[in-house]
Amino acid sequence: MGSEPSHLHMLFFPYMAQGHMLPMVDIVKLFAARGARITILTTPVNAAIIRPTIDDSSIHLHIIPFPSAEFGLPDGCENRSFVLPEDKRIDFIRAIAALRNPFDSVLEHLRPDCVVSDYFLPWTYHVAAARGIPRLVFHGTNNFSLCASNAFERCREIVDKLDSFVLPGLPHRIEMLKTQVLDFKKLAGTPLGIFTEIFDEAEEVEGKHYGAVMNSFYELEPEYADQNRKVKGKTWNVGPVSLCNKEAAGMSLRGGKHSASVNECLDWLESKAAGSVVYMCFGSGSLFSGEQLREMALGLEEAGHPFVWVVRNEGDDWVPEGYEERIAGKGMVVRGWAPQLLILNHGAVGGFVSHCGWNSSLEGICAGLPMVTWPLYAEQFFNEKLLVEVLGVGVAVGSKVYEFRVEMRPVLEASAVAAAVRRVMGGGEEAEERRRRAKELGEMARRAVEKGGSSFEEIGILMEELMDLKKH
Ligand code: UDP
Repeated sequence: MGSEPSHLHMLFFPYMAQGHMLPMVDIVKLFAARGARITILTTPVNAAIIRPTIDDSSIHLHIIPFPSAEFGLPDGCENRSFVLPEDKRIDFIRAIAALRNPFDSVLEHLRPDCVVSDYFLPWTYHVAAARGIPRLVFHGTNNFSLCASNAFERCREIVDKLDSFVLPGLPHRIEMLKTQVLDFKKLAGTPLGIFTEIFDEAEEVEGKHYGAVMNSFYELEPEYADQNRKVKGKTWNVGPVSLCNKEAAGMSLRGGKHSASVNECLDWLESKAAGSVVYMCFGSGSLFSGEQLREMALGLEEAGHPFVWVVRNEGDDWVPEGYEERIAGKGMVVRGWAPQLLILNHGAVGGFVSHCGWNSSLEGICAGLPMVTWPLYAEQFFNEKLLVEVLGVGVAVGSKVYEFRVEMRPVLEASAVAAAVRRVMGGGEEAEERRRRAKELGEMARRAVEKGGSSFEEIGILMEELMDLKKH
């Protein structure tokens, strides 16, 4: 098939989890809007999520089967965000690794000019390199957290002996508790050792691939964007990518079927005063113990502000007695998937309680909202530092332990939830300053993606470079 000489043909291969796939599809739209021809490589269930959000004829979906049965996964279990039993996550990762040969066949057949693939698919570098195709990595995070994890690598040996430590060599003094970071090297030899393997391979190809596409914008974290370039090499900051979803229809379709009817949610928000509602959501896959959910419920109630709260857990044995009656009209609990972009950008919303997943964090920044930060795992504790200490738009709820396992995570009490929500939603100089700063960052974010803005320009520069590469 090959590609026409005048058009750049980019093949995007997203990792199958909402927090990775959604921003990558947004990136696809940005490049397509600038004249690239795009192929998104994915599997049937994920294609069904992506397809309704695409209305550009230069974007094609190329579908390969997902080997669910081969790896003991239920039929249709093709996206990590769809509440897999935790013990199935390893099988899911192994099934993804089995896509290596199909990926190679696709490259042989389509011969794209470049591949943009997720950080969690490091083997795509080797396959692409063997076919002479440049590979760009999509990290799904920001420059700050990459610099922070790089700094952690440099002091990891001594951390065990300390309760807290300062990350070396960063432009700001960032102090972390030992319990807020996970040393992946320590997982080697355990059932979770597969993560060590992925991270090791991802680090190994880091210095070899063509460069990195970041969902961030230069003005948000200039010192870290510069430092990251020095350490990791070529980097293009092209975000915030979610801002490409301008119409309400596009925003409401993002991520698939919503359990809360979009209209019900918006009607509810319409009935509330501007900036009065707090929105609480923990991304696409975070579950909690019943005990924690109960404390959250009571905390939101105690804070006294209207709220929309997205709960991914099934079942309701955690719901406090008489809760639904007490919060009627004041709180809306959405079970499952919510139209997050629409909610965050509704004028009634005045604050965001987030797990600090990078997409949510950046979507909160774009909406100009101050945040309560409640990191759980992954790079979320670094993102919290960025939001609270570097950008000055967050209040930490007090989460201190990095923990994937729901039942092992320490429970934060209702009073901590209420106090953090009140600090963000309330009045006073400190809260006003946080709001002002959040609004300012939201405006900067919008300027970055407009014509002439830094992210807009970086897309152009990258495309030109890739076109040159294609020609020579
Ligand atoms: N999201 C959404 N509705 C939900 C939950 C999440 O639209 O009910 C979207 C959210 O807008 C974000 C992504 O899913 O774009 C979650 O990514 P993030 O990096 O915040 O967290 P992760 O899911 O990777 O932990």
